[in-house]
Amino acid sequence: MIQITMPLNFLGTVYREIRQSLVDMGEMFDLLEQPAEVVDKPEAPDLKVTGGALEFDDLQFGYDAERPILKGVSLKAEAGQTVAIVGPSGSGKSTIGRLLFRFYDVSGGALKIDGQDVRDVTQDSLHKAIGVVPQDTVLFNDTIYYNIAYGNPDASREEVEAAAKAAKIHDFVKSLPEGYETAVGERGLKLSGGEKQRVGIARTLLKNPPVLLLDEATSALDTQTERDIQDSLREMGEGRTVITIAHRLSTIADADQIIVLEQGEVVEQGRHDDLLAQNGRYAAMWSRQASEDMDQGGVEDTITEI
Ligand code: ADP
Ligand code: MG
Repeated sequence: MIQITMPLNFLGTVYREIRQSLVDMGEMFDLLEQPAEVVDKPEAPDLKVTGGALEFDDLQFGYDAERPILKGVSLKAEAGQTVAIVGPSGSGKSTIGRLLFRFYDVSGGALKIDGQDVRDVTQDSLHKAIGVVPQDTVLFNDTIYYNIAYGNPDASREEVEAAAKAAKIHDFVKSLPEGYETAVGERGLKLSGGEKQRVGIARTLLKNPPVLLLDEATSALDTQTERDIQDSLREMGEGRTVITIAHRLSTIADADQIIVLEQGEVVEQGRHDDLLAQNGRYAAMWSRQASEDMDQGGVEDTITEI
């Protein structure tokens, strides 16, 4: 883990990178004891989650004042629903996630979880309520056990193994000579992209958050691994409110709602079939991806995906 003897500017860099990659490391923030840009209101109460309903109302935000990034984004997710956000790179998708986590404050509008503005509750309780699976799960230079248990340091051995089973990584771990005590990360066993994502899923399952944020969680994986991991992500989403930022549209066709974002604005919104019928931006993205799959020689693939 991070040592307190590191120079402060290095810690600052680490902090920024963590924030940028949307990794959930509330504890690390505490450790750094950085004067946070975002502070709790005096005597702010904890977030009280009743079902995990989300309401984003007219979000306005820019990392700097001259350049607006989100220009009035609104969306609603009922408790237990899955909302997908799609759109070109740089359109502001991950920014919405960062605002939900309150890494930054909006300059206009509000984000609410079960009716509570994220600015009115403690960041600690907010971070506990949201589980994040980023594109690339960060592993600590420690054991696999530590890396999964990080999701809930109070978890028992049984709970850690149950999470690993649910994330379908347990059998793999048991096949290693040192099992859960195997060192991973840069100085240990290098896990494949899919294995890392399974560790991330187990970690998040153990945290058991009512709200899930999946930010391109499978976009770095090959098609078959992506499919396998998607199944696990779908299972993890049962009974939770999910915001999924997706690159491949085939992974979000069954979302309750799809938001198409372009240059910080919602340009289309609806279910997959409605959006195809509208024959607009989403439909164009869909047919473009289908023909790309075809080009990659996956004719059978394409047919099953459509
Ligand atoms: P997406 O996830 O849709 O690809 P992002 O939300 O990450 O897009 O970024 C939206 C825009 O904000 C991009 O133009 C990006 O360059 C800019 N941006 C992202 N993070 C920062 C930051 N920390 N400082 C300044 N600009 C940023
Ligand atoms: Mg992004």
